Amino acid sequence: MLDRLRSDIQFAVMSLFAGCAVLGILPFAVYRFARGEWVAGVMDSVIVVLISLPVWHAMRTGRNTGAALFQVAMISLSVVVASEILGRNGMLWAYASLLANFFLAERRIALGASLFVIVSIVFSGSGFPDDTERMSFAVTATLVCLYAFIFAARTDTQRRQLEALASHDPLTGAGNRRLLERELAEAVSSFARRPRPVGLALIDLDHFKAVNDRFGHEAGDRVLADFASIARGSLRKLDRLYRLGGEEFVLLLPSTPPVGLPTALEKLQEALRGQLAWEGHVITVSIGAASLHAGETWPEWLARADAALYRAKHAGRDRCEIDRDPSAHTGSHEVPAERRLNRPNGRNGDSALH
Ligand code: GH3
Ligand code: MG
Ligand code: MG
Repeated sequence: MLDRLRSDIQFAVMSLFAGCAVLGILPFAVYRFARGEWVAGVMDSVIVVLISLPVWHAMRTGRNTGAALFQVAMISLSVVVASEILGRNGMLWAYASLLANFFLAERRIALGASLFVIVSIVFSGSGFPDDTERMSFAVTATLVCLYAFIFAARTDTQRRQLEALASHDPLTGAGNRRLLERELAEAVSSFARRPRPVGLALIDLDHFKAVNDRFGHEAGDRVLADFASIARGSLRKLDRLYRLGGEEFVLLLPSTPPVGLPTALEKLQEALRGQLAWEGHVITVSIGAASLHAGETWPEWLARADAALYRAKHAGRDRCEIDRDPSAHTGSHEVPAERRLNRPNGRNGDSALH
């Protein structure tokens, strides 16, 4: 619990509000019950329960999103109701609730909830002695809301930039190894749910050490960046490029059946052949590829592509080797010859897993 409070700002803000509700409102509820003011006592108690409930839910499920949205709604409603009943004492809570909205919810939702609070209070506003104070509240609350919105937008942009930095290689802009591992695992689990053919290619620049030795490390770096931009130009939007390390890259090709794999990779190799060069020195690539087989893990899949790459290197480089197993289930609709022959009595086997 303490760890989560420290590391999860959304959960911490939810807990803070629940704590404030318990410490700040519950004693009033007890006091009102003691004085026989049953309606006010019940109302205070309901507010405490509704604001605290999401924290209990988030603790049980480990998830915040739904609970935080519920708390935003409850806090906003409570502030409006409290302003109506308690006047200025209730209204002062509006400032804290406006800020909390932006910590708890996505900024457009937070903005909507905040405008609801401001507009409701300004127009119902039993606690304003005159219109000047009403205007002052409208202006100051809107400013708080605006600052919170700008702050939330900035934080969001910075979070996205940090995420991109943590998951991409700065030299080539390709995904890094961490992202590769995550997305390969996702590809395998999505195949298990819905078998759609997906291809993987390992690409290694040929004799790259010679490029560094001859033209220098900086030229080598430029070639790596050129490789990534040429590759991106030749691929579909859906395809994903990662840098595995050094001069080795991985290409993930979703919705690509085994028959389409050589076509896509030949197109890539053709584009590279025409463009990847440094001062007239042409740089070629070797590729090893494999379609995902049902039941295998991503390291097994990658290892098959790696073995194919090894064969491409040993066969003389500047070529593409594809690991093939016609009997494997690849999620493709094409039926391998071997399976067609094995079908009993020519029944057009729905049992073929493709
Ligand atoms: P092969 O055809 O067998 O793949 O030969 P190769 O020379 O490409 O392979 P080798 O593994 O012997 O050398 C890879 C070279 O890649 C060694 C290293 O100097 C270079 N390299 C690795 N990372 C970088 C990098 O970030 N920038 C530059 N400029 N060079 C790199
Ligand atoms: Mg190499
Ligand atoms: Mg290498």
